[in-house]
Amino acid sequence: MDSTLDDELADELRALTGQLKSQLQRHAALGAWAAPGGLTPRPATDAAPELIDEAHVRSGRRTLAQIRAELGDCQRCKLAPTRRSIVFGVGAEDAPLMFVGEAPGEQEDRRGEPFVGPAGELLDKMIEAMGWSRASVYIANTLKCRPPGNRNPQPDELEPCMPFLKAQIATIAPRIIVALGRPAANQLLEVDAPISALRGQFHDRHGAKVMPTFHPAYLLREPDKKRETWSDLKLVMAELERLGIHPPRG
Ligand code: URA
Repeated sequence: MDSTLDDELADELRALTGQLKSQLQRHAALGAWAAPGGLTPRPATDAAPELIDEAHVRSGRRTLAQIRAELGDCQRCKLAPTRRSIVFGVGAEDAPLMFVGEAPGEQEDRRGEPFVGPAGELLDKMIEAMGWSRASVYIANTLKCRPPGNRNPQPDELEPCMPFLKAQIATIAPRIIVALGRPAANQLLEVDAPISALRGQFHDRHGAKVMPTFHPAYLLREPDKKRETWSDLKLVMAELERLGIHPPRG
């Protein structure tokens, strides 16, 4: 078999898997599990909590599962044909502390989870040094699909993708969002400014306090900037303390 045919078959298989995944997610959000043989309604006692959560219904807020289902096998921008995974986000749905990066890299694209490469290892250390854990915060990116070659996100990619991040923020309602690097900070604050002009202070946006700081990938290249980053994270820890929010194991 020639390699073009291999590639075409792989693409087709990836697209079919994506369609099947989003169909299963839509069915799960509707309270039913789809099996190859058809739909099996969930037993009444196991009704879809996302759809009957009174607090969410009253607030008009969607759950993360609903937002994920709405995203489906997203084809809204030109990144869809080259991505392996949609990297939605990871962590606690009610996390008081959220971290937002730029876009998935190669390993994130492979594994479908944000910040799992070398920058992710450093981010994990930063989170743990603050007394928190990956599971007790929420981690996402401005883009959910990997830009080829890790180039910067482009406006026509951010435009359809950012509403999903904003919906996630509205659902999670974090008290503090740490914006990692200039692209994330600029998107969240709707400005065009260098990170050095934004970091070190809170900005009130999205119902939260946004603290811009250096991106862990930048810190791997410029370890001297770790000192300033830690001072930003200490402001975050102090603000959480002031709000009476303690790390789960604190
Ligand atoms: N860099 C990011 O901005 N996000 C990731 O998920 C990984 C690396």
